[in-house]
Amino acid sequence: MIRDDEQIAFLPDLLYTGGRFERGLALVCAQGGRILRLVREKEIAGGNIVRLKGRAILPGLVNAHSHAFQRVIRGRTEYRTGHGSDTFWTWREMMYSAATRLTPDDIYDASRMAFLEMALAGITAVGEFHYIHRTPEGAVYDDPNLMAKEVVRAARDVGLRVALLRVAYARSGYRVEPNQRQARFIEAEPETYLRHVEDLRSDLARMEDGQEAAWVGLAPHSVRAVPLGYLREVIRYGADRQMPTHMHIAEQPAEIAACIEEHKQTPVHLLASEGLLSQRFTGVHGIHVTPEEIDALARARAIVCACPTTERNLGDGIIPAEALMSAGVRLALGTDSHTQIDLLEDARELEYHLRLQRLERNVLAPEATASSETNSSALAARLFDLATRIGAQSIHAPGGELEPGRPADFFAVDVDDPSIAGASRADLLACILFSLARTAVREVFIGGRAVVEEGRHRAQAEIVENFAALQHKLWGKR
Ligand SMILES: [Zn+2]
Repeated sequence: MIRDDEQIAFLPDLLYTGGRFERGLALVCAQGGRILRLVREKEIAGGNIVRLKGRAILPGLVNAHSHAFQRVIRGRTEYRTGHGSDTFWTWREMMYSAATRLTPDDIYDASRMAFLEMALAGITAVGEFHYIHRTPEGAVYDDPNLMAKEVVRAARDVGLRVALLRVAYARSGYRVEPNQRQARFIEAEPETYLRHVEDLRSDLARMEDGQEAAWVGLAPHSVRAVPLGYLREVIRYGADRQMPTHMHIAEQPAEIAACIEEHKQTPVHLLASEGLLSQRFTGVHGIHVTPEEIDALARARAIVCACPTTERNLGDGIIPAEALMSAGVRLALGTDSHTQIDLLEDARELEYHLRLQRLERNVLAPEATASSETNSSALAARLFDLATRIGAQSIHAPGGELEPGRPADFFAVDVDDPSIAGASRADLLACILFSLARTAVREVFIGGRAVVEEGRHRAQAEIVENFAALQHKLWGKR
């Protein structure tokens, strides 16, 4: 039996659970940060009560796709490079100019900055698609997981849960000469990669102590970067251990053309015909896919992770979210390159891109029903679900919903913030989803522990200062 003084009750004005906001409901947690039950205010039986006055609380957002270090190139790629038209591929060269130089300390400082910004935006768990493994010269560090561990340390120091999706990267591409600028990513043999994954799993498990703070997933980078035989071994390893497995699919038409040249079929068809898709598989981007490929993803119960703020920034294209969702494919969301870190912006962009394309509104909304109260936030609820519950499914995070048995991972918004003020209980989620200013996120709790209070993180000043120094070192004063 749990004694009262070992429990903590969070009592906001409004609490989002079961797809709606409830008034006067408290979240009761064990000291370890797990939700025990949701009770009415008058039923709180003593213990510590944390009143969150003027706040609505929502389950923490889950960012399913991040490259934390890319935070260092924010604002540095928004100009013409002068080599014809600028595309994903010219952007990639600029991104490599950072990736080739970061030291272990640098990647810690850059990651901590990205994770800080995530926490301030209400994100409580992240899937970090991590591919910088080797030294800038291309040698293996004494600990081959040193860089991955620096990223994990950054997440833990900020307080975020992290799935370290360790990337397998074997080559530049099919019949493509090795690119010196990718030397830090390469683990040419599957045995080497899997040995490093195995070591990372046991090292993180040792640090863990049952906290579910950091765990390992697999991330064969793409069909371009991983040959088929290698890919099969990685997928088999993941299947035996039920690990989340992420892979870039169909971001750029050139990748698909290269796959057709090598395998006579598209990346998704290849994965499907080889039996490599599963419900643990998340295909990142999934933009340039055909109806048949969408069906294959649906049949395998795979997840597709959309990253609309990055996809619009890179000119990748528009994800066919309606076709994917109506086929039954689950969608998660990621902030990817971190041009902007605001997962609610990704959620609304998924819908807005379709509106611009189709000259229609409410494209992803469920069919209207008789009850107007549920209708006014039905689209928002659907999109919010992608940013929370489905994201958690994608990276195997323990949160995603505020219900008994899950950790108390949540964020609190100021209901009087000018961006959402005056919303009714029925409209509030739609206001938050479509209009919330990120600064309206005032508190963030992860495992029942305050990570953000009054809109600030306790280590914010130091994190920002160290990051500014890193930027100065990388790019000089200009
Ligand atoms: Zn990516």
